[in-house]
Parts: sequence; C-alpha cells; structure tokens
Amino acid sequence: MKVVDIHSHFFPKSWEDLSLKFGGLPHGGDWPWLRHAGDGKAMLMRGEQEFRPIYSACWDPQVRLEEMARDGVDKQIISATPILFAYEKPVAQALYCAQLFNDAALEICAAGQGKLFAMAQVPLQDADTACEEVSRAKKNGHVGVQIGNHVGLKNMDDSAVLTFLQHCAEQDIAVFVHPWDMMASERTKDYMMGWTVGMPAETQLSIVSLILGGGFDRLSDKLKICFAHGGGSFAFLLGRLENAWLHRDIARGKSEHPPSHYLDRFYLDTAVFDGDALQFLIKKMGEDRLMFGTDYPFPLGEQQMGQLIKTTPGLTEATRQKLLASNAESFFGV
Ligand SMILES: [Zn+2]
Repeated sequence: MKVVDIHSHFFPKSWEDLSLKFGGLPHGGDWPWLRHAGDGKAMLMRGEQEFRPIYSACWDPQVRLEEMARDGVDKQIISATPILFAYEKPVAQALYCAQLFNDAALEICAAGQGKLFAMAQVPLQDADTACEEVSRAKKNGHVGVQIGNHVGLKNMDDSAVLTFLQHCAEQDIAVFVHPWDMMASERTKDYMMGWTVGMPAETQLSIVSLILGGGFDRLSDKLKICFAHGGGSFAFLLGRLENAWLHRDIARGKSEHPPSHYLDRFYLDTAVFDGDALQFLIKKMGEDRLMFGTDYPFPLGEQQMGQLIKTTPGLTEATRQKLLASNAESFFGV
C-alpha cells in the first residue's frame, strides 16, 4: 500500500542568526535558533528560552529516509514549524525569513531521492507579499503552502487572508492550515495544554470563522485547503454549530448555507491518534476528504507512522489507500 505523509516538519541544521541580521543581540529577541548537543540532538531556542527538544530527522534527509523506510512511508511533505512564521514581525523581515526557510526546505528535498516534497511559508501579514512569495515558491518546486491559522487577531475570514486564499485557488496552490500562537495561553501553560487543548480549539475556530465569515461563499471552489490535526474540535462539535446556525440568526454570520453544507470544500489530515475518532471523521467528512498526516518528527506525532489508518477496524482496503496516499497525491500533485 502506498503511503504519503502530508504533515511533517523540518528545520535546517543551522541558519543565519536572524536577531543579529535585524539589528539585535546575538540570539536575542525571540527569533528561533538551534543549540546543538552534538549527538544528533538539539534544543530549539527562542532567543534565550528553550522551546522544544528535536533530533537529526529534522535536518538530515538520510535519517528521515531511514525512518520512513522503517515505517513504510513512501513520500513525505515537509513544512516549516509555526515558530518560524514571523507574522508579528515587520513584513520585510518575515519575507526574508520565509525565503530563507523555503530555500532550505528545497535543499533537504533535493537530497530526498524523490521522496521528499516541501510546502512553503509566506509573510501572511501582508497579502500582496504573501502572494508573490507563494508564486515564487511554486515556480521553485514547492507543492503547496503552509499557513498559520490566524494573523494576530485576524481569523481566517479576514479579507487579506481571503485574498491570499483566492490567489492560491487561481494558481492551483494547495494550502495547509496549521494551528499556532494558541488562545488562552495563560490558562494552558501547564502540562502542554497549549498543544492538547489550545491547538484543536484554534483549528475549530479557523474552520468556523471561514464558514460563518462567508469565506467559502466568496472563494473559488477550486481552492484546495486542508486543516491539521483532523480539524481539531470541529467535526465533533459540528452539530452544536449547526443547531446554533438554524435557531439563532446572530449565529449565522455571513454564510449562505448551514455549516454542514461546506464539508466538501476542505480536507483534514488524520492526526487524531484514535481509531474511533478516525472512523467518526470518515463518517462526517467522507473518505475523499482525509489525508494521512503524522506531525513527524516531533514527540506529539504518530510514533509508528501509518499504524492508525492501517489498523483501525472496519475500513475497506480502498478506503485505507485513499487516506494513506491517493487523496494526497491528487491534492498536492505528488
Ligand atoms: Zn504540525
């Protein structure tokens, strides 16, 4: 069975000190950098703060290919990590950062024996610059673009974000939406609740705002857009959203139809780590709207890549193949 992982992340082994570049102290401010321990392990730093331990699979294509072979993954689409988005920075700095990591992603893919593909990142705080960069990236070989699910206080129904999405629709560029900069950070700072609670809530908020903001009514139906982590809390709480839309006019927003009408306008990845949840997603979204994603090589990713789809009971072989590879192959053109 073919296997294509659409949700995996990379870091280059090292990169220019962006704090110094933009006039700050060495490794100052909140620009990310890697502090290597020398044994294939490194600490991702944000200025002086330790952010996350990572290992060589992030930057070494050989390690990545070996682990893919171990778990039977044929192709992987790599994307930057949200800490690199820089949406809160001046546009010129965010563009510089995006180009740096977009070019680095292609270098890793070039050593990937045809098995690695990259999504780009863009300075989404400025729609025009983001459109230019995503077009440059497509020309250079990126197979899609990963965006954060909000730009500061702007949700996915923001007109500048919609302008960017429409550009992607017109240029046939696949979009992957990743949660980041999570809500209620003061109340979720313990126990990694920012990741386990904040991220799913962020993704639900994004899909709801895109629907109720009239986003899907305005955007071309050619847009290929996928949300991470099984859409977060969205599918399980769709009934609540639908009920509100039907019975309270203020809950309808600008959407022309009830929320369930738009389920064929977007995709979700399968990073839900639970067979019951996967079966529920297939029932709600349909087997054509889900794509295998792991969050490799981070500790919160699927440890044995592909096992959830391969072992969840009650799926036909044809369904498993769609989820594991075919849907992604047509979505990203890989
Ligand atoms: Zn991720």
